[in-house]
Amino acid sequence: MIEPIQTKVLVIGGGPGGYVAAIRCGQLGLDTTLVEADKLGGTCLIRGCIPSKAIINAAGHFETMTHAASAKGLHGMKLAAVPTLDMAELVAWKDGVVRKLNIGVGALLKRAKVRVVQGWATFSDAKTCKVGEQTITAEHVILANGSKPVELPFLPFGGNVVSSTEALDLAELPKKLVVVGAGYIGLELGIAFRKLGAEVTVVEALDRILPLYDAELVAPVAKWLKANGVTLHLSAKANSADKNGLIVEMSDGKTETLPADKILVTVGRKPNTEGWGREAMALDMDGRFVKVDDQCRTSMKNVWAVGDLVGEPMLEHKAATQGEMVAEIIAGKKRRFNPASIPAVCFTEPEIVSAGMLPSDAAARGDNVITALFPFAANGRALSMDAGEGFVRVLARKDDHRVLGIQAVGAHVAELAGEFSLALEMGAVLEDIAGTIHVHPTLGEAFHESALRALGQAIHI
Ligand code: FAD
Ligand code: FAD
Repeated sequence: MIEPIQTKVLVIGGGPGGYVAAIRCGQLGLDTTLVEADKLGGTCLIRGCIPSKAIINAAGHFETMTHAASAKGLHGMKLAAVPTLDMAELVAWKDGVVRKLNIGVGALLKRAKVRVVQGWATFSDAKTCKVGEQTITAEHVILANGSKPVELPFLPFGGNVVSSTEALDLAELPKKLVVVGAGYIGLELGIAFRKLGAEVTVVEALDRILPLYDAELVAPVAKWLKANGVTLHLSAKANSADKNGLIVEMSDGKTETLPADKILVTVGRKPNTEGWGREAMALDMDGRFVKVDDQCRTSMKNVWAVGDLVGEPMLEHKAATQGEMVAEIIAGKKRRFNPASIPAVCFTEPEIVSAGMLPSDAAARGDNVITALFPFAANGRALSMDAGEGFVRVLARKDDHRVLGIQAVGAHVAELAGEFSLALEMGAVLEDIAGTIHVHPTLGEAFHESALRALGQAIHI
């Protein structure tokens, strides 16, 4: 018989929610055990954020080479030969990036003296689980079971129908790729495959792409799709697939088959709430998510839940922040999950960042606000990078100029997300941003100028 493990803290899941919680618990001197069925790193490091950004980045290089090899060339630079792609080698490079992070997480857990148990945990009551023959009992349980891709019943995964997981592991570039769902994952990957040379078609049931954002913010992405020959079918419903491709009911009610050698279904993700004994733990639910309060406590004493399992937004930095917070609460610190904003980035072409309120949120609340936008067409750094498309937009309360929301769309704007969040967390007013020296020439100057413009003092526009 295997000796049962008794641990102070049991963490389920080695994704960003779980491994960050476990490392912090270890740092705080709590006896901690983490169970992971798959590879350490979870969705984000193994089949999500990092591998997708690796492929997206590589696709950007390929696009640059393709432009240079075109008849027009690229600003006087010309490639004599057309670039070629070895998809298997690209995927192997991506796997190398993932491997480094996977090993890194293992090393961090080890250094924090966290016991790692490999296998699938199944609970028999709220504080006891089995992993194979191994029984583990704990004083505290942190659930970080994460999420998985939503599968459409009429378009099950398998064969040519793939989720983001398989799309990041293709041995060959599909000639014709049809993406179902124009959310951030579908568009990030669809755009990358287009840059790599695939013919890409996107099918979306709603009448717009990236429905979480407003039309102004999304316009540069829509423009890129159009200019680069991505076919977009809006208000169109995927019905089923056969060997020829995807069968779609178009906006005019007619049915069409869109030829495809791969169909990528990205219609959202759902929390992993099945198959691990949640029922035995008697946890209250909040719709499809495990219900938690602002300290990530579930309805069961000393059972905590974090990350994709507990709700939107399903993002790495939310999962990790919650994981770290729960560890500190267990160790006796006073913490609450009450961020001024959970910023989000779409790594589309161009990139989109949103932190805090959108103009539509302010309108819905009836707030009296000022919005101002500074275009990258008037930003020297953007022009020097051939990236004059897009803008930074700031939204502030009219009476006291408190900044409520900041958005940007443009090349490389993901890197501005930290500054936007900091401004919101520190409760900045427009004058704070206007009074902060921003380095020239950088994209951040567009944020500075948007605040100046909101105050009626813009210099460069
Ligand atoms: P997960 O990372 O899903 O980890 C859960 C882990 O728990 C898994 O490893 C699973 O194997 C394990 N597990 C579950 N049940 C058990 C059990 N019973 N026993 C043992 N182990 C178990 N987010 C961003 O912020 N930025 C991005 O750019 C971004 N890009 C993405 C791109 C793609 C293609 C995808 C799919 C996701 C992306 N995300 C991104 C989302 C991000 O990956 C998730 O929000 C994040 O991984 C959630 O972390 P988590 O710890 O809650 O869950
Ligand atoms: P200047 O831009 O030099 O302007 C002075 C102007 O006055 C000139 O046009 C000159 O013709 C005119 N003038 C002078 N005397 C008279 C006169 N008697 N009558 C009429 N006109 C006159 N800074 C950064 O912050 N970031 C960078 O990345 C950066 N990169 C740089 C790269 C290079 C190659 C160089 C050379 C400089 C760089 N700088 C950079 C520095 C930046 O260009 C200067 O700090 C900035 O231009 C200074 O602005 P200024 O208005 O004081 O002077």
